[in-house]
Amino acid sequence: MGLKTKQQYLDSLRAMKPTVYMFGERVDNVVDNPRLRAGIEATGATYELAELEEYRSLIVTQSTLINEPINRYTQPPKSIEDLVARVKINRVMGNRVGTCFQRCTGLDCLSALSIVTYDIDKKYGTEYNARFIEFLKHVQKNDLTCNAGVTDVKGDRSLGPAEQEDKDMYLHVVERRKDGIVVRGAKAHQTGSLSSHETIVLPTRALRKGDEDYALSFAIPMDTPGLIHVVGRSSLDTRELDGCDRGNARYSKYCPTIIFDDVFVPWNRVFMCGEVEFAVDMVNRFSAFHRQSHGGCKAGKIDCMVGAALVMMDYNGTDKASHLKNKIIDMIHRAETLYGCSLAASYEGKQQSSGNYFIDPVLANASKLHEGKEMSEAGRLLADIAGGFVADLPSDRDLSNPEIGALLKKYLKGRTDIPVENRIKMFRFVEKLVMESADTISDIHGGGSPEAHRITIFRESNVKAKKEAAKRLAGIE
Ligand SMILES: Cc1cc2nc3c(=O)[nH]c(=O)nc-3n(C[C@H](O)[C@H](O)[C@H](O)COP(=O)(O)OP(=O)(O)OC[C@H]3O[C@@H](n4cnc5c(N)ncnc54)[C@H](O)[C@@H]3O)c2cc1C
Repeated sequence: MGLKTKQQYLDSLRAMKPTVYMFGERVDNVVDNPRLRAGIEATGATYELAELEEYRSLIVTQSTLINEPINRYTQPPKSIEDLVARVKINRVMGNRVGTCFQRCTGLDCLSALSIVTYDIDKKYGTEYNARFIEFLKHVQKNDLTCNAGVTDVKGDRSLGPAEQEDKDMYLHVVERRKDGIVVRGAKAHQTGSLSSHETIVLPTRALRKGDEDYALSFAIPMDTPGLIHVVGRSSLDTRELDGCDRGNARYSKYCPTIIFDDVFVPWNRVFMCGEVEFAVDMVNRFSAFHRQSHGGCKAGKIDCMVGAALVMMDYNGTDKASHLKNKIIDMIHRAETLYGCSLAASYEGKQQSSGNYFIDPVLANASKLHEGKEMSEAGRLLADIAGGFVADLPSDRDLSNPEIGALLKKYLKGRTDIPVENRIKMFRFVEKLVMESADTISDIHGGGSPEAHRITIFRESNVKAKKEAAKRLAGIE
């Protein structure tokens, strides 16, 4: 098949029967649950856009593996052009949905595996790469969405996996069988797990001798027995359930914790099992790809923020205020720096032994470090420009209340030629852009916390060459 329509994507999720809990209750119908559906719609946009002529050349590419057109979100980079396209479509998607569309993380896992499974095989004569290629064909043929099962719950952060009192703080093998392995543990903050068909598990950190049971990578369907999704609370999350005050009329983000309660994984889906020294490479490759991905989608989100700020200025009658225009410029330059850094990481990418391409990790991490600070600055500027109702706008229910609705509409007006309803809608959208915790906190922690970006920047930078340049110019032998 190669490409799914959005409808086929929704139907395929409907056919799955994952175990899901949310707000204290079991959820049997994921696709029609308003909270989850808003997230699924955001991922659905990656299928929708592939159907539109306008975006086809950007989102659809030809697979040399299955000889069919495929969605780029199933294509590990085979060239610089692929690396650049990743950033460009992420910007289009971020702009399209104004929140996280939840499909880049799976591609980042596929991209890391396309490099590291080859390297493990080269050292140990294992068959991980062949298994991975078969899995990738399955993903491409069925246009599947995958999620990134990377972050373990980690228990006491000062201890390694094998040192924890409770050995399940990091996902690990509890049984090796002839036909596969049984795993136990939990992965936290699983962006869009229920918008996805498969979870791809990678280790969350560097490992050492003694940690063999934790050096794990595999992929399994989201409705595999023993896999339990517990959807996390996040700010504004009941807005979709309430059916009002949503801000973003269609799209949202949610992040479950997934518990692996003795889950069976067949060997043909295992891509690493025990090779401790490769855990660090898996993590570093995945995180560098993911930090680069953010440079595209978050620039696209700032585009929405700039648009919202400009509209609010129109509605408030502040469109001529020069200090607000300056703040708009401050927002735009943040988006373009993020985007530029992420694009540069692509253009400076290099081919790896497996034949696949890897981005420049220093530029990718510089982009993400920039995002961690500058997205919140963009949000601060947006809230400043829009005004205080970002914080405490009365509910749509009060606005439609016959006793006070007319009074509220009178007092919530900005410019008299602008319908008050439009001003209210835009305030709600700004609230969502600035305060949707499931999205905004990923600016800081998504793809690893800021210190991880800083460490990578120092480790991967050629500091020796910089010292030599300084000495040469100072005339020191
Ligand atoms: C909205 C959102 C979406 C996400 N989506 C995904 C996803 O789809 N898939 C996925 O796998 N993960 C996802 N993540 C997880 C993300 O990668 C982690 O949040 C991040 O790696 C930090 O891990 P943590 O949350 O456990 O925080 P911690 O690791 O506890 O970090 C908290 C702070 O403590 C510091 N710290 C931690 N350990 C140590 C130590 N040993 N020594 C010194 N300092 C330390 C960190 O630098 C940080 O400042 C997401 C996170 C968020 C917030």
